[in-house]
Amino acid sequence: QSPAEYIKQHIRTVPDWPSPGIQFRDITPLLSNPRVFRVLIDQFVHRYFDLRPSAIAGLDARGFIIGSVLAYELNVGFVPIRKKGKLPFTTVEETYELEYGSATVEMHTDAVKPGDRVLLIDDLIATGGTMMAGMRLLERLGAQVIEGAAIVDLPELGGSQRLRAGGLRVHTLVS
Ligand code: IMP
Repeated sequence: QSPAEYIKQHIRTVPDWPSPGIQFRDITPLLSNPRVFRVLIDQFVHRYFDLRPSAIAGLDARGFIIGSVLAYELNVGFVPIRKKGKLPFTTVEETYELEYGSATVEMHTDAVKPGDRVLLIDDLIATGGTMMAGMRLLERLGAQVIEGAAIVDLPELGGSQRLRAGGLRVHTLVS
């Protein structure tokens, strides 16, 4: 059994959450099982040990869980990209469209600097809007986003394709 299959088996699908018709992919079973959690993190460690990011930026909130463990393993710093209103210092922000309404993410202005090679990470890519907003924030501060990574891609929503079309390298473990 491949690591990807093993990981996929531990993602739970919750029908009709948070609203009717949505199939929510729940990664908490991946986190609560120490063997799967290790396999999951090792998949990213092996890839990024060679690609050598100089920092890891995680997207609020599940991107923090895997991003911070990965940053610790690679011995690089961790940067949180947060939902609006949570960061105390001066920030840059990006607003993006959701199916209903919009969302805003923020990052501290001193979190990265020009020339940094940043890995952007989240648990899942759906429409790609969240990761695209994170990429824009990092690029506005002069950082180079070497890749956008996630555990899960939902290819039928076209997000990873949209991100690639926007110039981002995308790496996901399962579809
Ligand atoms: P996007 O911006 O449409 O790509 O949505 C991705 C963001 O929404 C990520 O931060 C995910 O954590 C969250 N998200 C959307 N759908 C799911 C899901 O089915 N499971 C877990 N997270 C999801």
